[in-house]
Amino acid sequence: PQETSTAFRQQAGIPAFDAHLLKKDFPILNETVNGKPLVWFDNAATTQKPKAVMDRITWFYEHENSNIHRAAHELAARATDAYEAAREKVRVFLGARSANEIIFVRGATEAINLVAQSWGEQYLHPGDEIVVSHLEHHANIVPWKRLADKKGLKLRVIPVDDDGQILLDEYAKLLNANTKLVAFTQVSNALGTVTPAQQMVAMAHAVGAKVLVDGAQSVSHMTVNMQALDADWFVFSGHKVFGPTGIGVVYGKEGLLNATQPWQGGGNMIQDVTFEEIRYHNAPGRFEAGTGNIADAVGLGAAIDYISRIGMENIGQYEHFLLEYATGLIKQIPGVRRIGTAAHKASVLSFTMDGYSNDEVGRALNEEGIAVRTGHHCAQPILRRMGVETTVRPSLAFYNTCADVDRFIEVLWKLRKKK
Ligand code: PLP
Repeated sequence: PQETSTAFRQQAGIPAFDAHLLKKDFPILNETVNGKPLVWFDNAATTQKPKAVMDRITWFYEHENSNIHRAAHELAARATDAYEAAREKVRVFLGARSANEIIFVRGATEAINLVAQSWGEQYLHPGDEIVVSHLEHHANIVPWKRLADKKGLKLRVIPVDDDGQILLDEYAKLLNANTKLVAFTQVSNALGTVTPAQQMVAMAHAVGAKVLVDGAQSVSHMTVNMQALDADWFVFSGHKVFGPTGIGVVYGKEGLLNATQPWQGGGNMIQDVTFEEIRYHNAPGRFEAGTGNIADAVGLGAAIDYISRIGMENIGQYEHFLLEYATGLIKQIPGVRRIGTAAHKASVLSFTMDGYSNDEVGRALNEEGIAVRTGHHCAQPILRRMGVETTVRPSLAFYNTCADVDRFIEVLWKLRKKK
């Protein structure tokens, strides 16, 4: 079928969403690869950037560039205003109560390490238990495992069913008075599973545990709201939500952040320094030692403005339709095994194909200009749980179209017909 996404949606009675038009906002999507128009199906690894984000960063360097907070001059004021305006945009995007709850970091990885090395170092003691899910990206395993080994903590794992969804009954059995932290992802990067995050947070709180939710894969696909979710920390990376690399966010509840010792020391984060005593700023300052990535924080603000104009609800609805469309077509190809078949999924369509290595499939797609990731996706435990070491992983965004999906499916059929 060659329907455009818009025509297909109209037929299905879904309001029009013009992915073809939105695609024009992303200069890189005009690239050709091997003589074919690029199809970017590697959105779970990183998303492409709209011109609005690039323009905002250029504007910053052309008109506002300065270090923030410290100087009396005009450009310091402009840069500070732009940086703090970006923080406010993130606050609104996450539905946080206060901009003081928004800390800028390098990305989700640094965000989780920050929580592990500040709160975890301060508040976790031998015998305490940390619970993570089997779905986690290495970024939400390694910092906790390291901390567990260092401090004599117990790391426990929430199992998943064969579709790749959290087993809530098993999760309930893991929770007890020793559980001090639960850390899990809202959307799995390897399978696309959307976890029942709100319920999981409530269950952890019921035993007095704190909760960190990894939003690296969720923020670009669904509305998130910190009041509804009630997580103690929520982390994400700017580059996976159409913003620049090198910028990310830790949301934390204000009281908790201010009761936590900083993880890095230096300039910007102190109220007063003597050789005898150091007093820190409250959050967010206490967690932003040194000069941060000012321009890219401003770029992230522009990315949030951009997707807010489209509307997260519209994006989520369209992507759901596109994923269903792609799933329906890939199911018809003999010998394709989908990895991750939970009822509630976002964006990701991991699979393997009989007769071909994943790298061979990836190369065949690349020859046709279609970018997918092949490998373990930094989530080895969940892939092994699903019985594989690696997969081919197309991952969708709102600028992908049915025509993109059709080209992708055509390559798989060609491979199928050869073997
Ligand atoms: N968590 C999840 C679920 C991810 O998918 C990723 C990146 O793929 C990360 C954390 C780490 O993000 P970053 O590499 O941007 O720090």
